[in-house]
Amino acid sequence: MMDKVLIANRGEIALRILRACRELGIKTVAAHSEADRDLKHVRLADESVCIGPAASVDSYLNIPVLISAAEVTDAVGIHPGYGFLSENAEFARRVDESGFIFIGPRAETIEMMGDKVAAIAAMKKAGVPCVPGSDGPLGTDDETNLRIAHDIGYPIIIKAAGGGGGRGMRVVHAEGHLLNAIALTKAEAGAAFNNDTVYMEKFLGNPRHIEIQVLADEHGHAIHLGERDCSMQRRHQKVIEEAPAPGISDEVRHRIGTRCAQACIDIGYRGAGTFEFLYQDGEFFFIEMNTRVQVEHPVTEMITGVDIVKEQLLIASGEPLSYTQGDIVIRGHAIECRINAEDPETFMPSPGTLTAYHAPGGPGIRVDTHIYNGYRVPPYYDSMIGKLIAYGDSRAVAMARMRGALGEVVIEGIKCNIPLHQELLRDAAFQAGGTNIHYLEKKLSEK
Ligand code: ADP
Repeated sequence: MMDKVLIANRGEIALRILRACRELGIKTVAAHSEADRDLKHVRLADESVCIGPAASVDSYLNIPVLISAAEVTDAVGIHPGYGFLSENAEFARRVDESGFIFIGPRAETIEMMGDKVAAIAAMKKAGVPCVPGSDGPLGTDDETNLRIAHDIGYPIIIKAAGGGGGRGMRVVHAEGHLLNAIALTKAEAGAAFNNDTVYMEKFLGNPRHIEIQVLADEHGHAIHLGERDCSMQRRHQKVIEEAPAPGISDEVRHRIGTRCAQACIDIGYRGAGTFEFLYQDGEFFFIEMNTRVQVEHPVTEMITGVDIVKEQLLIASGEPLSYTQGDIVIRGHAIECRINAEDPETFMPSPGTLTAYHAPGGPGIRVDTHIYNGYRVPPYYDSMIGKLIAYGDSRAVAMARMRGALGEVVIEGIKCNIPLHQELLRDAAFQAGGTNIHYLEKKLSEK
């Protein structure tokens, strides 16, 4: 087992990693910026190192400084959390070459999944269903591109191979706009991602976002932990997630989950990962793989009893998975609300000092957060200040508990999006389950 882990992240996920390490008897080093001295996990860690000024580029994104921090503290492993450098192949490579363990997949795997054209090609080969599309990058021949689009059928979407965060995409509804759209997306992608490779996919009109959680070890074992529904989104950012996804049968889950686990074995995947799909008319279409722990991992933990972060640490230590597929039983239902320090109407970030904080509680309630009374939310980072998770035997019970918990939380001094969550938990369509990825934006625009 790794003896000491450097936590190269901040906020709730840094605290989540610290708790998993503590349970496994692993010592922790909190690597934090100058603005984050007061973070809860910094106080709880065995050691802490300041890695630079508040700006992420000078601290949480600074590869040489993070490696030096691991050197001076004698850390064995480095956990990147999510965001920041978690999907940066260069970081994974440098960590490895410097003699540390990167808690995640191999650098080559991250690289491949970071190039969407390569990722889709690998998934197709592994038998994972993908969106009908151009089968690789688009060339420069106009006639060929027009034919490809015609064969797929409009509307289509042009996507940048190096795109991310919902950027580098353009929908085309009619043939007359195709060539211009390809040229524009190519130019934008070249400027934004330093890679002007683009490809084409069928544009799905009303999909849900359903993703499969996987775990794979170094010994050729891979399992899936079922799916999550993350369709409640605003600007491609998830707002509420739940597991299992409403309306997905055991048989369908087994079929798509097994495909994903097998794909992990085929590509030599290591660690925790997520296969993201668009789901429409009963069919799954792979869009991308996330090669890290995700914000919404707790809903899966609640319904399976598997501690995903502990498994990441065990896998990185070279241990075999603690579970076989047959051990995984899905029980009950879990919902997660992302709590953001932002205005619930305008979505403007609302940093500042928490003058009062009271956590909710009771059966089935889990709160993953780093905030405390008097904590000052800095203006420099993502506005998420925590996650409220409700579990119950059924979706109805989980929802009732979530409503109760949202009513119990007290957060004063800053604005937060709890009123939005309360409204969504009362929403008839969300209560019925199965709303698509456009639902929230449509609802907000009607207000
Ligand atoms: P990113 O890496 O930028 O998040 P994704 O490939 O995951 O890019 O796509 C982001 C979002 O764009 C999806 O969640 C979905 O809302 C939309 N999208 C992507 N591909 C399609 C498609 N073929 N049809 C419809 N919507 C799509």
